[in-house]
Amino acid sequence: SNTDNSEDADDNFNVVLRVRPPNAQERNRKDQFVVDFPGDGQVSVNNQGTVRSFQFNVVLEPDAAQEDVFESSGMKKLIDAAILGYTCTAFAFGQTGSGKTHTMTGPPAQFHTEGVTPDPNMYGIIQRSFKHLFQQLKRQSAPKYVRASYMEIYNEQVIDLLNPNQRRYLSVRWSKNKGFYVENLFTVECETIDDLMAVLEEGLRNRQTGSHGLNEFSSRSHSVLTVTIDSETQPEPEDENLYVTKRGKISFVDLAGSEKVKDSTAPGGPGMLESNSINKSLLVLGNCISHLGDSKRRLGHIPYRDSKLTKLLADSLGGNGITLMIACITPSSSNVTETLNTLRYASRAK
Ligand code: ADP
Ligand code: MG
Repeated sequence: SNTDNSEDADDNFNVVLRVRPPNAQERNRKDQFVVDFPGDGQVSVNNQGTVRSFQFNVVLEPDAAQEDVFESSGMKKLIDAAILGYTCTAFAFGQTGSGKTHTMTGPPAQFHTEGVTPDPNMYGIIQRSFKHLFQQLKRQSAPKYVRASYMEIYNEQVIDLLNPNQRRYLSVRWSKNKGFYVENLFTVECETIDDLMAVLEEGLRNRQTGSHGLNEFSSRSHSVLTVTIDSETQPEPEDENLYVTKRGKISFVDLAGSEKVKDSTAPGGPGMLESNSINKSLLVLGNCISHLGDSKRRLGHIPYRDSKLTKLLADSLGGNGITLMIACITPSSSNVTETLNTLRYASRAK
């Protein structure tokens, strides 16, 4: 495996690994816990006696609190860069049940249950990022305009999570000024952190809940919450009428579960179209990442255009900003195959 440990200040692609604690079912079943932590960003997995090791920028062990994840993932760097006008993306990758949503927004149940007040200690990196963003903006004198949108990509179709009654799919288009963008996506101006939190809550409520197999919470879709930060600057102080608007962006992506959809034609299973296009998005993202992670291939053609997700993340993946991948795995022997798949996928990014 790749053991290049050097801290590269220019490195615009960071991979953090999070291993969730065993759940009650895994403990009751007496699953073996096959993930070990030799230290220094390493993780090793014992698959029936064969031990494989992988290296990451940061490894968050099962006892890591939500706050630890935010503080050590490098997330603040992305927000600070977005304020300066860069395009940044944080995404969670891993099989269903590995803790992607828990990492991004906190324990899924408490945000989906009416009458339950979320516990701020359990907030994920999204809410913590909102807080950091507004803390940073408060320190600055130049006016900044914060806007947010929230969409879901399901079967290569874009659905607006803030305007779900629109009941139609939105188009991904390209323009010289904006690059790839979603046409007619509802955008909310956010003057305060409460406005941003309301956007998040509204979108979480509207997230399409599929009914297939493993998933309770939209494991077949990618959700993308994007915060744009516009700042007006006066490049020439003597010319009071000349303003330049700089736009930075940070996208939070909770990816679809990375597990192989095995029985897609079985009764009650997802249809063929669904499993194909979901695998396609993740496959294309994986291809882009492996191209970018290879110093020779990154100069060639990167297949961003092959999926909607990668079109929309192209700016950030391509280097005009910082990308953070939080790969999520479970510690259990029963998931060892998917765990190794996730570790391999995430290692390609380095
Ligand atoms: P995913 O989004 O990858 O399908 P979830 O985030 O829904 O997975 O996590 C599955 C379950 O495990 C949820 O009930 C979640 O709250 C719990 N869980 C995940 N990660 C952790 C963690 N680090 N600590 C405690 N519980 C966790
Ligand atoms: Mg989830």
